[in-house]
Amino acid sequence: MADDLFADAETFGFETRAIRAGQRHDPTCGAVVTPISLATTFVQEEPGVHRGYEYSRTNNPTRQALQECLASLEGAAHGLAFASGMSAEDTLLRTLSPGDHIVLGNDAYGGTFRLISAVLAPMGFAWTATDLTDPEALRAAMRPETKVVWAETPTNPLLTVVDIAAIAEIVHEGDARLVVDNTFATPYLQQPLSHGADVVVHSTTKYCGGHSDVVGGFLATNDSELSGRLAYLQNAIGAVGSPFDNYLTLRGLKTLAVRMDRHCENARAVVDLLQGHDKVTHVLYPGLSDHPGHDAAARQMKDFGGMVSFRVAGGANAAMRFTTTTQVFSLAESLGAVESLIEHPGLMTHASAAGSELEVPADLVRLSVGIESTQDILDDLGQALDRL
Ligand SMILES: *Cc1c(COP(=O)(O)O)cnc(C)c1O
Repeated sequence: MADDLFADAETFGFETRAIRAGQRHDPTCGAVVTPISLATTFVQEEPGVHRGYEYSRTNNPTRQALQECLASLEGAAHGLAFASGMSAEDTLLRTLSPGDHIVLGNDAYGGTFRLISAVLAPMGFAWTATDLTDPEALRAAMRPETKVVWAETPTNPLLTVVDIAAIAEIVHEGDARLVVDNTFATPYLQQPLSHGADVVVHSTTKYCGGHSDVVGGFLATNDSELSGRLAYLQNAIGAVGSPFDNYLTLRGLKTLAVRMDRHCENARAVVDLLQGHDKVTHVLYPGLSDHPGHDAAARQMKDFGGMVSFRVAGGANAAMRFTTTTQVFSLAESLGAVESLIEHPGLMTHASAAGSELEVPADLVRLSVGIESTQDILDDLGQALDRL
């Protein structure tokens, strides 16, 4: 609802909006926390006359609060919450028609690649994967029927940075929209719409939720016509999360700013440790001045995030062993929560990319650096490195 006092970025800062935007004190009892509204249906005064809620798939008060809050954080006029990042992506791509063409980054999230190449392509959609850090490659990949260019920045697990403003210019030379998956950066570190993106996508399962306890997705845009179509599809397809899911994500957002500051601080300490170790052959982190995307990251991000990847001496076996010798870092897929996680992308999250252009190096280890005590994180990695 447009009358939300705290949605306005001109008046209230990010942290205040993370806690308050979209959330009104309950008029019946004054509860300061948005209730989990379990009702599936809402009373009407006369047929068609109601308070904005009819049926919970169409609109739900808990989901509405989350939608307004995260839209405000992205600097977006409109936001829609979904049951998962993938269902948000699927709903967005259903605005296209068979025959339309999609360009995506050649190290896109595996699930995005699978949705486009294995679900949509057989239905008649065309796609091209290309290097979005290379303007000429993007120009060459675009066709008259290109409707979406899908970028991620930073990417997973190689932490490649795409210059959003630079590619927005190229994308808008044609009749296409620029979609940016902002899952890794979060709106606290990067607001793609302000750099020329048309739509922001989130897996809120990661940093937005932040506690490894809820799966969700989000779309944000300033395009009212597109937003209307997306709201129609959200209701028509029905891939919405439960009120409890929406509540957990809304609760996670309240601490996003303080968590991200700590994630970044701990990641910096981890990068320093890794860079000084002789068993580490390469550290991938956009905060490093020798990272190819460092300048673009410094322009479009407030800080460089909590994800760190690195390559170890000794190849695939050494990398695999390393991931089983940490205690503070749990060996698990996913990322972006308070606890530190470690994984071997080649054997875990990116196993299905083996042999394709999305294949990742076998000696690569990915860290999702959590917000535990910095010293515990460093001690844990230090003892594992010493065993290599
Ligand atoms: C996890 C993830 C997704 C998919 O989101 P789900 O919530 O798992 O469906 C999409 N993009 C990125 C970058 C992700 O990390």
